[in-house]
Amino acid sequence: MIRYYILIGGIALISWLVSNKLKSKFKKYSQVHLRNGMSGAEIAEKMLADNGIRDVKVISTPGMLTDHYNPSNKTVNLSEGVYNQRNAAAAAVAAHECGHAVQHATAYQWLTMRSKLVPIVNITSSMSTWVVFGGLALGAAAGVGFGYYVAVAGLVMMSMATIFSLITLPVEYDASNRALAWLKNKNMLSQEEYAGSEDALKWAARTYLVAAIGSIATLAYWALQVFGGSRD
Ligand SMILES: [Zn+2]
Repeated sequence: MIRYYILIGGIALISWLVSNKLKSKFKKYSQVHLRNGMSGAEIAEKMLADNGIRDVKVISTPGMLTDHYNPSNKTVNLSEGVYNQRNAAAAAVAAHECGHAVQHATAYQWLTMRSKLVPIVNITSSMSTWVVFGGLALGAAAGVGFGYYVAVAGLVMMSMATIFSLITLPVEYDASNRALAWLKNKNMLSQEEYAGSEDALKWAARTYLVAAIGSIATLAYWALQVFGGSRD
């Protein structure tokens, strides 16, 4: 059990460091004001229009780093700062969320798969750890039948969250790539502004990478407990 807390603590520490770095990067690039004077909302509107998307609305949503694309009502939701401000960080986020809208409009397969997994993961992730734990309590590690099957069922449930976190990676990297390609091709930003947007998006992607690695590590730990970790 102590190794589990070290693992969880290590992952929590790394994800805290990366999200802190992300926040400081966003703060830094919020100071890089756009020469074209466009707000995040205006950039989003233009990117959607340039991609021939006319049925997606750009709206403002409260909070910080709350930006997201909602496929169910086709809205690009930008946090107040991103919606109103005219800087490299806002441009990056606005274009990234539009990248998701373009994925949706073009039925990008990883996004489709991710959307299908959402209702499953919502159910499994809340109880998978308890099911594995219950199976172990019932004697899974000793190879006792019923407990073993309960634990394996728990691991399968747990792996849904891991698969979800892995599928999230191409979805997020692709949205950023679409955003950066558009910003570059349409000459939206100066060289310095573009470099800032690129760096901000790179750090945003790293938070998803850390989450995926954490999910794999957690799954591996519990699999080891079920399939023989207790024998060492
Ligand atoms: Zn995204």
